Amino acid sequence: MREVVVLGSTGSIGRQALEIIAAYPDKFRALAISSAGSDPALVIAQARALKVSYVGVVSNADVIGQALPDVKVIDGELASSQIASLACDVVINGITGSIGLGPTLAALDAGNILALANKESLVVAGDLVMSKAKPLQIIPVDSEHSAIWQSALAGKRDEISKVILTASGGPFVDRNDVSGVSLEDALKHPTWSMGAVVTINSATLVNKGLEIIEAHHLFSMPYSAIEAVIHRQSVVHSLVEFVDGSTIAQASPPNMKGAIAYALNFPNRLVKATAPINWSIKHEWSFQPIDDTQFPALALARHCGEIGGGLPAIFNAANEIAVAGFIAGKIAFTSIVPLVEAVVAQSEKLAPQRLRDLVDVSAVQDDARMLAREHLIRLAP
Ligand code: MG
Repeated sequence: MREVVVLGSTGSIGRQALEIIAAYPDKFRALAISSAGSDPALVIAQARALKVSYVGVVSNADVIGQALPDVKVIDGELASSQIASLACDVVINGITGSIGLGPTLAALDAGNILALANKESLVVAGDLVMSKAKPLQIIPVDSEHSAIWQSALAGKRDEISKVILTASGGPFVDRNDVSGVSLEDALKHPTWSMGAVVTINSATLVNKGLEIIEAHHLFSMPYSAIEAVIHRQSVVHSLVEFVDGSTIAQASPPNMKGAIAYALNFPNRLVKATAPINWSIKHEWSFQPIDDTQFPALALARHCGEIGGGLPAIFNAANEIAVAGFIAGKIAFTSIVPLVEAVVAQSEKLAPQRLRDLVDVSAVQDDARMLAREHLIRLAP
């Protein structure tokens, strides 16, 4: 029986993690959940259904506490970090955005195994996070990194020559002109069902840029050995190339259940975690290089990753503001990446070479957000 702590329980990853926990009551128990608390009814329903002992929320703690007299409710900005520190078998961090960093560090400091879906933790403070993590303390949940992790088991670590992340290409991969696309268009992902921010990041391929930085830290691979390729079907989740010229891939239908279950139950596989590929029907899997002109976000992310220090955090912070601006209807889809580019260019010379702690990370992000907001105002119609 594994006691699991689920951070970001009302988000896409958190809800699926709770579904897995509920479906395997002999394997898992949800000890605690945490979320922003903006949907108190859902938090209450989750806590009751899973019979959790602790709930962490930023807001609505009074409503939730009254509804759950037997549950210890922890509230405030640091609730998720406190929940992440509880003694347990595994913490899954399904928080979206750089606010997931504090809970990541808290889980690692507490010595907990961390199933990490919050890629921003590694993007904004990869060196700091990895310096705190013991071997096998972080198990990736992001589907590409789970695939690399699984494929890497086919050889020795020093026999890996390259990792190849797959990208669906998002909804606009076949469109030459994306100038008029709406929020609704950008939210129509061809193969994956995910949260709004990740879906928009998939449409710009910023998500793949973030994942390249994530892979660099998780697998200690140089950027020159990390590639990305368009694979529209999203069935091959990523690949690992070995020194002998062999490439090992991990494949399963496009849903997160397999990756979440593998991380929660590592090193064991969970029986029927996800439906396998149906080989009685015809499949065509395609792979094609990514057009750098069509998707400039990728080269920009790679550049920020290679410079390192505060620059990946600046890239991410600017993108978070730009995407929020697009969702709010303040800027066009085509302004997202140029806005990020502008903030990175402005910040590059002044960015710190090393981020020592959360305070350093926050300072860098605050500056980048301020610059990004100035661009938002300038670009507003
Ligand atoms: Mg991914």
